[in-house]
Order: sequence, then C-alpha cells, then structure tokens
Amino acid sequence: MKVSIVGAGPAGLYAAILLKRMRGDLEIAVAEQNPPDATFGFGVVFSDDGLAFLRRDDPETVDLIEPHMMRWNDIAVVHRNRRIDIDGVGFSGIGRLELLELFRRRAGQLGIRPTYNTRLEDIGSIRADLIIGADGLNSRVRASGDFGEKVHMQANYFVWYGTNREFDALTQSFVETEWGPMNVHHYSYAPGRATFLIEAAPTTFDRAGFGDMEEPEYRKRCEEIFGDVLDGAILIPNNSLWRRFPHLSCERWFDGNKVLVGDALHTAHFSIGSGTRLALEDAVALCTALRDCEWATEKALPRYRSKRAPILAKIVNAARKSADWYDDFGTHMKKAPWPFALDYIRRAGRITPERLRKMAPRFSAEAERNGCSLEVAE
Ligand SMILES: Cc1cc2nc3c(=O)[nH]c(=O)nc-3n(C[C@H](O)[C@H](O)[C@H](O)COP(=O)(O)OP(=O)(O)OC[C@H]3O[C@@H](n4cnc5c(N)ncnc54)[C@H](O)[C@@H]3O)c2cc1C
Repeated sequence: MKVSIVGAGPAGLYAAILLKRMRGDLEIAVAEQNPPDATFGFGVVFSDDGLAFLRRDDPETVDLIEPHMMRWNDIAVVHRNRRIDIDGVGFSGIGRLELLELFRRRAGQLGIRPTYNTRLEDIGSIRADLIIGADGLNSRVRASGDFGEKVHMQANYFVWYGTNREFDALTQSFVETEWGPMNVHHYSYAPGRATFLIEAAPTTFDRAGFGDMEEPEYRKRCEEIFGDVLDGAILIPNNSLWRRFPHLSCERWFDGNKVLVGDALHTAHFSIGSGTRLALEDAVALCTALRDCEWATEKALPRYRSKRAPILAKIVNAARKSADWYDDFGTHMKKAPWPFALDYIRRAGRITPERLRKMAPRFSAEAERNGCSLEVAE
C-alpha cells in the first residue's frame, strides 16, 4: 500500500510516524514545500487537557515532547494594569520548530525521510492508494477535490511575533491605546523566548493606520504600545503580517482516495491553543480507523469522520465562542478587572459555579471576595 502525505507540519509528520509504527511494510512518501528548518510562528501551547488526551492515545509521543516543554499552572489576565491570576488551567509550551524537529527525528528512526523543498501542485498526478492532505490552511489537496469547505473570517486583526523574554504564566494583557483597545497573548515556549501575539479590533487597526504601515514600522509602534509588557525586550518578526483568523470547516473529509487532517480540514482559534493538538488527534483518528478497518480505505475514511467529528465539534465550537469573545474584547474591557477576568474564563461556554470552584478554587474565592457572583449570567 502506497501512502502519499502532502505537508510535513505536525499533522503530516505525526501521521507518517503512526502509520509506519502500525504497519512497517507501508510505502510512505512525505513531501514538504519548505526546507526542514523553516517554520512560521514561534511557540505553540497545549492545554493540560490536550496533553492528557494525547497521552491516552499515544504516551510515547507525549514522553518524547514533554521534557522539552515549559509548563505553568495559571493564566494571568491583565486589565487596567491589574493582574489577576486564574489557577487550575495548566498549559505547556514548546517551540514549533523544536516540536517538528523531534517528530522529524522520530520519523527518521522509523525510516521515513520527508522530501523537503518540494511543493506538490498537481495533486491529480500523485500515484498512491491514499493521499493525506496535511498541507495546512491553503491546502492544495483540499482545492483538488470536493470537500464542501466553508470559511468564516473573524473581525479582529492579529500579528504573531516572538520576544526575547520569559513570562511566568500564559498571560493576556489588555491595553487601552489612543486608537482603541488592544490585546496581547504572551507565553514562554523556551528559556528566554516567548510568543507575543497581538490583536486589534478593526476600528483600532484603522485608526492606528496599521494597514498603511510596512512591517518594521508597525513593529516599532507595537513595541511602544506594549512597552510595559515587554519591559525592555524587543519584538522578533517571522513573516509577521497582520491577518484575520479564518475559521475553516469542511462538509466532507474525504473525496475518493484523498483525505484531510489538521488545518487543511479545520481551524481552531489560537485563543484556546488547540490547533496543533487537533492536528495530532486527527492523525491518530485517521491512522486508527485505517488499522481497525484492515487498511480498506473505503471503510476507514467514513469511520475516521464518524468517530472523530463529534469530538472535534466540541473543541471547534468552544474555539468559535472564544474567538467571538475576543472580537468584542473592547466592550468587555468596560468591566472592572475582577468581573472582566470572570467573563474571560467563561468566554468559551457556561461554567457552573460548582465547576468553576473546583477548577479554579483560588480565583473563585478571590472573585467572590471582590464582589463577583459566580452564578452564570444569562
Ligand atoms: C497566530 C497563530 C497562533 C497559533 N498558536 C497555536 C498554539 O498556541 N497552540 C496550538 O496548538 N496551535 C496554534 N496555532 C495553530 C497551529 O499552528 C496549527 O493548527 C497547526 O500548525 C496545524 O498543523 P498542520 O500540520 O495541520 O498544518 P501546518 O502546520 O500548516 O503544516 C502544513 C505543512 O504543509 C506544507 N505545505 C503546504 N502546502 C504544500 C504543498 N502544496 N506541497 C508540499 N508541502 C506543502 C507547509 O509548508 C507546512 O509545513 C496557531 C496558529 C496561528 C495562526
């Protein structure tokens, strides 16, 4: 059986590893348009829940990546210069490049050598029993088939930078600028390194004139705006362009011998830090379905969808709600720091007072002491 994997991002490399482990005689080809050391972005985060999910399916991989991760227990929300810590929401961060390097080494041990610097354009010319589209948001595999894709664009603009300092928690800093409200998601992923992802509402973006500036100019402006957060550190660019987040979904997950995984199939807003986790879980679900259906693709591909879709829907819905909350963060910022932090932690869905107390006991007690009701607002 010949399997052709398009894309050596997290989903593509991980699918190759899993398939080879399950069935050593598979012929697996992985093509990647970029060189091995090229990547966009800086660090990615996994929630504790996300890692636990992955561990359940594949403890070996979690054991491989966990020692390279930075871990923290709290989320910090900074609003009106007041920092409020929300306990009980653990996260781990790792550099995207480091994660891919670990996967690449593991794939190499299994005899898989991706072909780098090779962009596959004509998907129809690939001769394989199964073509896995792990080629990200602008997937050629998706474009070559009938997948019924839908895209919803979030309103806010965001730009992804790195910075040369560490933070002690996954922090959300909200600031009121002379052009309107802005936000930065900042978290460490390696010693002395952090991701610094800046968001602006469309009105702020327009008033500040970010759309008319070149990259070095808006970087400088952002360094000024977030000077207190950066505390002397600089912003490090890496293809740092202002964009809007596209929520992609597909009605169909496979078409003939082509199947999609990861960002080629769906996206999940970065504010819940789950894109990479979902990409890896898709790979697990697809490979498990293939094995369970004894490698009969006509049975395995529908099974992949029917088993995976309900689980995926929950996280994707939470990500959509979270993204919508961020699109309106200027309105939420009218609240005082404690009600604001409470609003923030509930952004992806209703959390009952009991659940919140259990999940974040320290934060819940302090919120109540500061006059907030944990009852779910209608
Ligand atoms: C601003 C931002 C912040 C994020 N933060 C997080 C986070 O904190 N945590 C998290 O888990 N996720 C995060 N994500 C999401 C995460 O980056 C993606 O969900 C994840 O990378 C998806 O993996 P993938 O393998 O499906 O796709 P990708 O990582 O996009 O990989 C696709 C690969 O395919 C290659 N490729 C594309 N087309 C071709 C072709 N025609 N031929 C050959 N190769 C091709 C590409 O070069 C690429 O290497 C973030 C995303 C954004 C935009």
